[in-house]
Amino acid sequence: MDADAIATAVQENRRADLARAITLVESTRKDHRDAAQQILLKLLPGAGSAYRVGITGVPGVGKSTFIDALGMYLLEQGHKVAVLAVDPSSTRTGGSILGDKTRMARLSLERDAYIRPSPTAGTLGGVAKATRETMILVEAAGYDVILVETVGVGQSEVAVANMVDCFCFLTLARTGDQLQGIKKGVLELADVVAVNKADGPFEKDAKRAARELAGAMRLIHPRDSLWMPPVLTMSALEGIGIERFWETVLKHRGTLTDAGVFDENRRRQQVEWTWNMVHDQILQRLVDSPEVKAIRGDVEKQVREGTLTAALGAQQILDAFDS
Ligand code: GDP
Repeated sequence: MDADAIATAVQENRRADLARAITLVESTRKDHRDAAQQILLKLLPGAGSAYRVGITGVPGVGKSTFIDALGMYLLEQGHKVAVLAVDPSSTRTGGSILGDKTRMARLSLERDAYIRPSPTAGTLGGVAKATRETMILVEAAGYDVILVETVGVGQSEVAVANMVDCFCFLTLARTGDQLQGIKKGVLELADVVAVNKADGPFEKDAKRAARELAGAMRLIHPRDSLWMPPVLTMSALEGIGIERFWETVLKHRGTLTDAGVFDENRRRQQVEWTWNMVHDQILQRLVDSPEVKAIRGDVEKQVREGTLTAALGAQQILDAFDS
């Protein structure tokens, strides 16, 4: 099947071909990558129509329970939902804990939902690139809401925040000292915060935690910022607060759109992504460079022994790369 035929099949949302196209996008083989770029070029004119929402939170917070509930709600609203995952840790452990279809029991049975696990090969840069390109494919196939799931491992939150329109942080009832345990970085990235498991005996704690978190958010975000990220409570398990969550996400979109910032954000993301790829590829070329390979062992040895400073060592490697 050539690129044209696969692109057409993707547009017709033929699932097997969509899966095939995603596999090409995820592949590290040059011929696959070339084919993937051809397919993407064909589909690019129609891209950008879906609303992209990132969801992060530590394992156990209830991401899959929540995505299952939110996804079902969105289907009821007439949307078509794609769930993608960014989990660079799966490249080390060989198994993805995200995007496993069995974790979203109801959604995975739905015809208008498409769930794709994280690519299990590659660096964070590679996984993020594959996910961005997969977004174009699922958009072309007609999915109009894309949920991108990630765990708070390393830089994956930053990578996902940079590819979505709205970045949501799920957390549990943490108060006082426990609040310190939440990475400040994720609170800076979040557009919406939701304290999950606000049900039964946990409800009161969750409400209190939400108030404290809202206070923390006010310290992080300037008073006059366009959007002050709200802190909600919800129960993914009991389906409480799902509708309000989605209304908040839409309000965020409306606020940004009215201020003319929504499209500008996407354009900025595209430019940043371009440079990210330049950085990744330069790094790869440096690592692959025969000149660098020839001297790296020796340079490392001298730096380790203290006969060469790190700065001079770096200079020698860069000189070799340039030559
Ligand atoms: P993930 O690792 O973030 O995907 O978390 P899961 O969705 O797998 O949820 C972890 C556990 O928490 C499971 O046993 C869920 O049933 C439970 N859980 C998820 N959401 C809620 C909730 O809103 N309330 C309660 N009480 N339990 C929940």
